[in-house]
Amino acid sequence: MTIGDMFDETVSKYPNNDALISRHQNLRYTYQELQAEVDKCAKGLMHMGVTKGDRVGMWSPNNTQWCITQFATAKIGAILVNINPSYRTHELEYALKQSGTNTLIVQGQFKASHYVNMICELAPELKTATPASFSSERLPDLRRVICLDEDLATEGMWTWSDLISMHDQVTDAELRALQSTLQFDDPINIQYTSGTTGAPKGATLSHHNILNNGYFVARGMDFTDKDRLVIPVPLYHCFGMVMGNLGCVTHGATMIYPSDGFDPETTLQAVAEEKATALYGVPTMFIAELDHPNFNQYDLSTLRTGIMAGAVCPIEVMKKVIAHMHMKDVTICYGMTETSPVSFQTKMDAPIEKRVSTVGTIHPHLEVKLVDPETGRVVERGEKGELCTRGYSVMLGYWNNEEATTKSIVNGWMHTGDLAEMDEEGYVAITGRIKDMIIRGGENIYPREIEEFLYTHPDISDVQVIGIPDDKYGEEVMAWVSLHEGKDLTEADLREFCKGKIAHFKVPRYFKITRDFPMTVTGKIQKFKMREISTQELG
Ligand code: ATP
Ligand code: MG
Repeated sequence: MTIGDMFDETVSKYPNNDALISRHQNLRYTYQELQAEVDKCAKGLMHMGVTKGDRVGMWSPNNTQWCITQFATAKIGAILVNINPSYRTHELEYALKQSGTNTLIVQGQFKASHYVNMICELAPELKTATPASFSSERLPDLRRVICLDEDLATEGMWTWSDLISMHDQVTDAELRALQSTLQFDDPINIQYTSGTTGAPKGATLSHHNILNNGYFVARGMDFTDKDRLVIPVPLYHCFGMVMGNLGCVTHGATMIYPSDGFDPETTLQAVAEEKATALYGVPTMFIAELDHPNFNQYDLSTLRTGIMAGAVCPIEVMKKVIAHMHMKDVTICYGMTETSPVSFQTKMDAPIEKRVSTVGTIHPHLEVKLVDPETGRVVERGEKGELCTRGYSVMLGYWNNEEATTKSIVNGWMHTGDLAEMDEEGYVAITGRIKDMIIRGGENIYPREIEEFLYTHPDISDVQVIGIPDDKYGEEVMAWVSLHEGKDLTEADLREFCKGKIAHFKVPRYFKITRDFPMTVTGKIQKFKMREISTQELG
C-alpha cells in the first residue's frame, strides 16, 4: 500500500475525526478537511511541473504546511527531502545538491533564522528572476522555491497561496491517475542521518518502509482512532514525521502540534486543553516539562502513554513521568534513520527496570542478530556484538551512495554500527558505537563504561571518552570533561578519582577540561571531530 492510499482510506473511515490541530497557528482540520488541503497541494505541485521521483525539499519548523506537504508529495510520488531547520547555508547546500532537490518549500523566518536570506545567499537569482524563469547557477537542479510567508517571499519565489490556488488547473481524475501508478516500494522520502560519525548520509525510504514503521510504533502503544497525540518533536526528523504523523494517520488518531519550536509550558498546555492521550519527547523535553514552575497547574490526567526516545533515559526521569504525568504505559524506542527508524520498543507493561536499562525487544516483523564485528560470528546472549536488523524497515539504500549502501546492508541485514547486548528474554541494551570503541594494546575498551564511571563524580557535568592514536599501544584513552559552574578540578584530581576504582588500562591517559564539545545540529556529540582536534593538539 502507498502512503497516499492509506491516507485516503483513513479519511473514508474517520472523515469527522480531528486529524490535525496546530495550536500556534490556531488551525484545526478534520480528516476530511485535511484531505481537501492535501489534494489541493498535490494538484498545485503537479501543475507547477513536479512529478513522480522529483525531490521536494521541506525546510521549516513544525506547521500544518509541513504535514500537508508530506501527504501531498506521497500522493504524487515526489520524494520528500527533510531539511533540518537548524541547518545553515553550508549544510543546506550540501543537502540540496546531494539530493538533487528541484523544489524547495521554505519558511520565511523563524526566531534567529532568516531562511529566505540564507537561500538567497546560495541562489541570488531569486531576488531578480520571476518564479517561472528562475534558475540558479550554484544549485543547477533547483527549479522553484515556494515560500510559506507571503511577506518575505522575494521576486523569484512562489508563495504557498500561489501553490494552493493552482489546484483547479488539475482534475481529481488526473491526480488519481498519477496516484494509481505508484508502487509501495517506490522511494518517497530522503532523510539525512544526524552526522554524528561523519558527513550526514541521505537514507532513501519507501512508502512500505515508513508507513509500516509508523503503524507498528503506534500499535506498540495500542493506538486507536480515539487517541490524541501531542507532537513537540520536530517533523523534519523521523520522530515527528514517521512515529508522530504516520503513527496517527495509520490509526485515524489526532496529531497535535503545540508549537513550532519546543516549549515546555506550551506542551503541557496542549495536553491539558486538547485532552491528549499520548505525548512524545526526548528525555530533556520531559525533564523541562516536569521542572516547569507551573507544572501543577495543568491537568494531565487524560494521558496514558507516549514515547521517550533519541537518547539514554535516566531512571529517575522515567519514574517521574510515570508517577506525575500519568504516563503509566510510556515506551522507549531505539532506531536509526536507515531503519525507518524504529527497530526496538519497550512493551507498555514491561517492568520498569527493563524500560530504563534496555531499549526493549525487537519490533514485529523484524529480525535481529548480534555479531562479532570482526568475524561476523553470532555472539552468545550477554556478549557484546554489532546490532544488525533485517526486515521491511531497512531503507532502500543511501541516496546516490552505492558504496556506503553495500557496506551497511549485507544480505538484507542493516549493520547499525552500534554495539549491544541481548539478555535471555530478548531485551537489548545499547552499549556504544563500534567506531567509538578503543583498542589499547589489544584490549577492547568501551568509552561508555568510563563515561558512566566519571559521571559519578559530583563536580563533573559532562564527559566524553575517545581513543587517541598512540605509538606504543595503538590507541590511548582520553577524556574530555566539563565541570559544573564554579568547580575546579585538575588532571591529577581526576586521575586520583579513577585510581583503584576502574582497571588501570581504562584510566584516561589524557584529560581535557573544556566546555566546547563538537556537536551536530541535532545536539549529538561528534567524537570523530574530538579525535581530530585532540590528535592535532597532542602533536
Ligand atoms: P550518523 O549516522 O550520520 O553518524 P547518527 O547515527 O547519530 O549519525 P541517527 O540515525 O539520527 O544518526 O541516529 C541513530 C543512532 O542514534 C543509533 O545508531 C544509535 O547510535 C543512537 N540511538 C538511537 N536511539 C537510541 C537509544 N534509545 N539509546 C541509545 N542510543 C540510541
Ligand atoms: Mg548512524
